[in-house]
Amino acid sequence: MSAFKCPKCEKTTGGNEKFCMDCGQPFNISCPNCGNSWRFMFDYKFCPTCGNNMKKGGSVSNPQQTNKEVKK
Ligand SMILES: [Zn+2]
Ligand SMILES: [Zn+2]
Repeated sequence: MSAFKCPKCEKTTGGNEKFCMDCGQPFNISCPNCGNSWRFMFDYKFCPTCGNNMKKGGSVSNPQQTNKEVKK
């Protein structure tokens, strides 16, 4: 296992930690659909097991609602 730098605070960890001991950044991401988990460092956009879109559902902005506040 190689050392792994925290993406948030850049603390170097041993590579076995589940969370950053400095800022609490989780190093494992798990798919809400199938439960598979992997290291944060891979930054997958889709679950490698079931294809679930991991970028969806977090901070998604709805593009259909941006035009609504133009009119006063
Ligand atoms: Zn950190
Ligand atoms: Zn999955």
